[in-house]
Amino acid sequence: MSKDRILAFGCHPDDIEFMAAGTLALLAREGFEIHLACMAGGEGGSPTEAPQVIRARRLKEAEASAKLLGGHFHYAGGYDLEVEYSSLYRQRTTRIVREVDPWIILTNPPMDYMADHEETSKLVRTAAYIASVPNYDCGYPTQATGRFPYLYYWNAITLKDIFGRPLPVSCRVDITSAIEDKAAMLAQHASQRDWLKHHNGYDQYLEMMRGWSREEGSVIGVPYAEGFIQHISQGHPQDNILKTLLGDRCHPVV
Ligand SMILES: [Zn+2]
Repeated sequence: MSKDRILAFGCHPDDIEFMAAGTLALLAREGFEIHLACMAGGEGGSPTEAPQVIRARRLKEAEASAKLLGGHFHYAGGYDLEVEYSSLYRQRTTRIVREVDPWIILTNPPMDYMADHEETSKLVRTAAYIASVPNYDCGYPTQATGRFPYLYYWNAITLKDIFGRPLPVSCRVDITSAIEDKAAMLAQHASQRDWLKHHNGYDQYLEMMRGWSREEGSVIGVPYAEGFIQHISQGHPQDNILKTLLGDRCHPVV
């Protein structure tokens, strides 16, 4: 029987794979039930295919990635470059949080290179807070959850905010033993990988991921790592559950 549920909720179909899939692979090995969700359908991810065509492909790719961890995939119904902190998006986000009722949530950081990512961060943060409020009607037949989840943000793309500054990472997870699982998950997003490969003449898609994982790893003296910032304000549990679950593989920033 699997342990509790962990939800990684990203903006675009491949956000999770770039920044958090190694940690998810480690948690899947520990027996946790993994859920991947994306806010937008990746409609902007093709120079030639129509939005609905590329969306259908990309959602299938994301689902295949989740399956590599024996996990589940959810699509919030949003649209690339239109993600906004609005009632419609709050309702869609809360629907997924209520349906999964996760113990731990991972999501995009509040500061990142795309406003879509930042809006997703805010939406998931709010949904994590209001999913347990019975009087919040999310517009779908759901039940309020009975608990506050742990909430973590993964690091920003390029590991810097829009002003070139590092984010206040609270811990790094050594994902060296899971880097190939992470690469296999990212490789499921063939539509994006092939596009970049064709455009640049080398496999830039996987190399970008390995590069950021390597950079994060160099901070703690291991080949590959992922950085996380824990949300520790009012309501949410404040102990570092990743440290508890992953032991020596989780390196808190002191
Ligand atoms: Zn993205």
